Amino acid sequence: MALLDKTFYIETFGCQMNVHDSEKVIGTLVHEGYRQVETEIEAALILYNTCSIRDKAEQKVFNRLNDYKALHKKGKRFAVLGCVAQQEGEKIFERAPYVSLVSGSASYRKLPEMLAQLEAGEERITGLDDRQTDETFETEFTARSNRHRGYITIIEGCDKFCAYCVVPYTRGKERSRTSHSVLAEARRMADAGYTDIQLLGQNVNSYKDPSGKMSFAELLAAVGQVAGIRRVRFTTSHPRDFTRDIVEAIDAQPTLCDHVHLPVQSGSSHVLKRMQREYTREWYLERIAWIQAARRPISLTTDIIVGFPGETDEDFEQTITLLAQVQYDAVFAFKYSPRPNTPAISMEDSIPEEIKTQRLQILLDRQREIQRKNYCRHIGEIVEVMVEGHNTARGQVFGRSSQNKVVNFTVDAPILPAPGNYLNVRITQAFPNSLLGEAVVSGREAAQMHLSIQDASIEISIV
Ligand code: SF4
Repeated sequence: MALLDKTFYIETFGCQMNVHDSEKVIGTLVHEGYRQVETEIEAALILYNTCSIRDKAEQKVFNRLNDYKALHKKGKRFAVLGCVAQQEGEKIFERAPYVSLVSGSASYRKLPEMLAQLEAGEERITGLDDRQTDETFETEFTARSNRHRGYITIIEGCDKFCAYCVVPYTRGKERSRTSHSVLAEARRMADAGYTDIQLLGQNVNSYKDPSGKMSFAELLAAVGQVAGIRRVRFTTSHPRDFTRDIVEAIDAQPTLCDHVHLPVQSGSSHVLKRMQREYTREWYLERIAWIQAARRPISLTTDIIVGFPGETDEDFEQTITLLAQVQYDAVFAFKYSPRPNTPAISMEDSIPEEIKTQRLQILLDRQREIQRKNYCRHIGEIVEVMVEGHNTARGQVFGRSSQNKVVNFTVDAPILPAPGNYLNVRITQAFPNSLLGEAVVSGREAAQMHLSIQDASIEISIV
């Protein structure tokens, strides 16, 4: 069945890596003459960029395919991209025979060829590169929907093989981009008006410049020195590879944000060993001590899995004591979910669901109290906020601080500042997940804000 026309709809599930992959896929499709539409009904080609980190996320994709399968009879074509595509491979054609294209992220560089096959009417197209691939998906046609803040992938894949994780099987081995290529993209973005850049990778700390010129910390500092760039973030870090020079780079370069996300997963060295995380509680806390000794306060956030096979009450208690010790500003906590093909799936001592739920609730309650106190410390401070949008019902503007905290604030000016503006905000109230304040705005800043509103009329930029 050939394509009816060159319109496409894409829905993205999962992490920031997937969101950014979709931006690159959209850029590639647009470059190939396709036009993006808002709904499945309007599109000739329907793409789902999928996530398989948890069973629920995977199930969502098959539900979505099922909901829209009748559209296939009207000549619409379906493509499944991302982690579920790589994990399930050609089995997707059996489960959903109306799907025509299945591609993992390590094959996206072949998208133009795969699209040509699709247009020619081929019914079973696959891009399923395994861990052997050395290629990265670099394109100058990235369709970024935010005009001020954007991602740059610096490393793809993962070589860590944590016992619970599918990523090394779905995204292939680690492949870093050259520092030259990363910096060229950062400069192009700065020239296009971007001021806030987030360097992305499954494990950015294991970045290895193929040209041998820069370490991760040096690359971080170099991106921070690109003219026009005001904020640089990075995610995700791995404690095993987190080095002290990253903190030194943050100390030396003011554009590097005051925030480090350092996933710990468990506070118990015994559980960390079963998880194959390659560090102990003590190793992790040493890195936390480096970060907390930085010259400016750096906000710390983390990921935690509760109920990993074999986690005892004592192990869980160690995670709770770690929260108290580190005093994170946010914790992304999940119940362990067994994933196919991972070592943890065959581990004994699985934890009953109700215990996992109880532990998760205890952890979230404790963390909420920590955040309540942490956020209150900002009352009276003046923090710089990059505007992200407006809550017109409340007459408020919202954005993020360098510490990545959400700040809602009022502005005493005739017009509200457009997204992308940076304003100083005096914090007047604090909640466990956000801050409230009022902008400290000069007449000059108000004039600049007006200019930015006019700029904001362009919605998508291809950089
Ligand atoms: S570091 Fe571990 S958790 Fe992170 S992507 Fe790699 S295997 Fe998965």
